[in-house]
Amino acid sequence: MQGLMMDMPLTLTMIMRHGERSHAARQIVSVTADSPLHRYTYADCFRRARQLANALGALGASPDARVGTLAWNDYRHMELYYAISCSGRVCHTINPRLFDAQIEYIINHAEDEFVFVDLAFVGKLEAIAAQCPGVRGYVVMTDAAHMPATSLPNVHCYETLLAGQRDDFEWPALDERTASGLCYTSGTTGNPKGVLYNHRSAVMMAYTAALPDAVNLSANDGVLPIVPMFHVNAWGLPFAAVLVGAKLVFPGPRLSAPEVLADLITGEGVTVSAGVPTVCLPLLDYAAQTGRSLAPLSRFVIGGSACPLSMIEAFRDRHGVKVLHAWGMTEMSPLGTVNADTPETAALGGAARSEQLLSQGRALPGVELKITDEDNRELPWDGQQVGALKVRGLWVCRDYYRLDGQGGAHEADGWFVTGDICSIDPNGFMRITDRAKDVIKSGGEWISSIDLENAAMGHPAVAEAAVIGVPHPKWQERPLLVVVKKSGVAVVPADLISWLGERVAKWWLPDDVVFVDELPHTATGKLSKLELRKRLADYRLPDASA
Ligand code: ADP
Repeated sequence: MQGLMMDMPLTLTMIMRHGERSHAARQIVSVTADSPLHRYTYADCFRRARQLANALGALGASPDARVGTLAWNDYRHMELYYAISCSGRVCHTINPRLFDAQIEYIINHAEDEFVFVDLAFVGKLEAIAAQCPGVRGYVVMTDAAHMPATSLPNVHCYETLLAGQRDDFEWPALDERTASGLCYTSGTTGNPKGVLYNHRSAVMMAYTAALPDAVNLSANDGVLPIVPMFHVNAWGLPFAAVLVGAKLVFPGPRLSAPEVLADLITGEGVTVSAGVPTVCLPLLDYAAQTGRSLAPLSRFVIGGSACPLSMIEAFRDRHGVKVLHAWGMTEMSPLGTVNADTPETAALGGAARSEQLLSQGRALPGVELKITDEDNRELPWDGQQVGALKVRGLWVCRDYYRLDGQGGAHEADGWFVTGDICSIDPNGFMRITDRAKDVIKSGGEWISSIDLENAAMGHPAVAEAAVIGVPHPKWQERPLLVVVKKSGVAVVPADLISWLGERVAKWWLPDDVVFVDELPHTATGKLSKLELRKRLADYRLPDASA
């Protein structure tokens, strides 16, 4: 027997309508290339989204066109998110930090009809436009006064385009499985792979992200997504914020300027922020150097790579900020797990508490996890055994865009193979030990590079640390610690080894320490171990014959 409830599709249009009607006056504040601080309301945003939807029609964009964006986090990008997706088209956010050849590849692979571009990236597109013949036009996200001279073909100015459009638009009734967004993984190996979100997955992600034991969002929050809108939809925050009516604060091109972030936090009442660990370091350092407070910030979602304990403690002890250590992937919209306290974890003290803070947390409702051994047998959740992490759920991709099942990441029964290695404890708390491709295999045992990095990052002289496996004749591989020192602090390898000696098993201790000026990062701000291994390809351990 079927229930007798209305069948209302889960669409971003529904979230947008709710935001516009119930939180019309809520503010969206942005730093942009053409304005130091732009301020308007949800009502303004969604009125302009309707003008933009009319503009897309006037440009001749197909009803299901892929429309590219190459832009920082700001109000125009927000308008694009809603106008493109809610008009039935696909918002394809492009990571401007990718190499030109990768951007060219994904624009062509996605078959983008139009590309909206921030002032800062016009030159990037000029360099590749000739190789993107399918793009019918470009729109520079600025006003007439700031419109650059450009060789881009069929180019428009965003504000001029909008000004010519009516602000009424009949949003189409969409099936909830209609594609809404497209985001390519950064493709550290091979070409980037496209993950095609739909309205249903984006709405379910937004509802779940807002839950108390996820990001705990409400209309009383000010949300500052530092994670870029081209990185998995800024982790869904532009949708989750509107769902609850939270104020949105966008850093625009200034996301790496800690003083701008601190100004936005204190000046605009930011209570929640989100980003990868590498963006948090400069913010913490800046606050320490200047003695500035980060009030009223209360939560910081940190994910994308393992958050070091030292960072979690610095936020907690110096600023009263709770780090929500989260794990996810582009393929998971992106949230899979969040480390939120339970009465039991909150009661822990000492080393047990520190260990617990390093966990990436429990699965969000709507996501299922399992870990398996090398023979694909499921492993128990005992907090000890470590295996390959597989997931399925409401906002997990079931295939890659236009790869026809050749993505190679799904098992026959549909589980998605994350490529991560972890343990899960009896209460469901997960702890990532490595990416499968970064695991260090020493004498048949695995050494966790993440745990070693974490311990090294706690040393006062260490600005950033990476651990990779290097070949060893007897042990197959041994760990090598690569460190960027904090400026003006003296440290020698033996200091670091003895520091680690108090924190990890003896046989895990790195065989050597190499100091470098900087570590390579991916387009999403994570350590690039692939690149680091390349740079150290000629490195030999001092005692490789031991
Ligand atoms: P890309 O690396 O291409 O940007 P994603 O952003 O989708 O792709 O990265 C997902 C991966 O990032 C995960 O599979 C995992 O290895 C890593 N990751 C994400 N969050 C965490 C975390 N909190 N701790 C450790 N690793 C993480």
